[in-house]
Amino acid sequence: MKKIAVLTSGGDAPGMNPCIRAVVRTAGYYGIEAYGVNYGYQGMIDNDIIRLQSRDVRFIIDKGGTMLYSARCKQFHEHEFRKKAFENLKAHGIEGLVAIGGDGTFTGAQIFSSEYDIPVIGIPGTIDNDIAGTDVTLGYDTASNTAMEAIDKIRDTSTSHNRLFLVEVMGRDAGDIALRCGLAVGAIATFIPEKKGEFDQLVKSLERAKARKKRANIIVVAEGEETGGAIKLSEMINERFPEYETRVSILGHMQRGGSPTVFDRELAARMGVKAVEALKAGERNQMVAMVNNTLQLVPLEKAVTERAEVNPEKIRMLEILSR
Ligand code: ATP
Repeated sequence: MKKIAVLTSGGDAPGMNPCIRAVVRTAGYYGIEAYGVNYGYQGMIDNDIIRLQSRDVRFIIDKGGTMLYSARCKQFHEHEFRKKAFENLKAHGIEGLVAIGGDGTFTGAQIFSSEYDIPVIGIPGTIDNDIAGTDVTLGYDTASNTAMEAIDKIRDTSTSHNRLFLVEVMGRDAGDIALRCGLAVGAIATFIPEKKGEFDQLVKSLERAKARKKRANIIVVAEGEETGGAIKLSEMINERFPEYETRVSILGHMQRGGSPTVFDRELAARMGVKAVEALKAGERNQMVAMVNNTLQLVPLEKAVTERAEVNPEKIRMLEILSR
């Protein structure tokens, strides 16, 4: 293999930049020419493909976002545009692709590589940590640290004023950021899409807290949980417990940005090296995964067709600790 390309696609995640750096530098180490595709699959269609040398990826190791930009590309769903993308790659002599993104990105990669003879290695990059087959995804650690730090600050004011804060974190379908933060900040309740009936638990907790004259101050809410998010939940609490002064804080996109943590940078470095070595070894349509702290290759098929489950052990322990 003489030439490979790397792209980032779907939602951006902290750790994508150090991962691009690792891919480019590993390619250079093995005498492979590296190319970057701007704007994910859109750049393949538009021939927005640039040569990346070692010096082009200086100064990005500590930066959030992605120097290659990202996009959600509708055209890639259509065969004629995927054909155009393949022709552009071929015109550059590119023989392998590293795709950093979420399960949508991997679905596109799988379809593309089944139509055209081009091996793809996926690297899981999404803050949600919702990809089956890997214990962890790039960006999850940074995003959950950002959320935790914000919640710690909110708690200062919530304690000073004796207010009950509902903090909404990202997680439309996956509650892992909320779950991790719930444990990390000692929330009285944590609402996640994967768990039902949490409101009844919260009512019991608040009644217990009232009886013991205990202050309750933080509830962590994943945006996609069953009752409809933090604003709706605060209304439900106000109806049931008018004596509580509630406030809602929605953290939003601040969780997606920022300098990657040491965990995400290390993960990015290791996954980037592994992806290039996999292409070099003739692997195709695999995802680089971290399983029990060991890098492995798992079929993209698994990442795309299976559902990532939140760790039930974490949910159980959260219940013990929030009582
Ligand atoms: P995140 O988890 O952050 O949302 P993602 O990779 O799942 O990341 P998506 O927007 O779902 O993000 O997918 C990224 C891109 O992958 C899409 O914009 C599209 O270009 C491509 N893609 C997704 N599904 C398909 C498909 N079925 N066929 C072709 N391309 C697809």
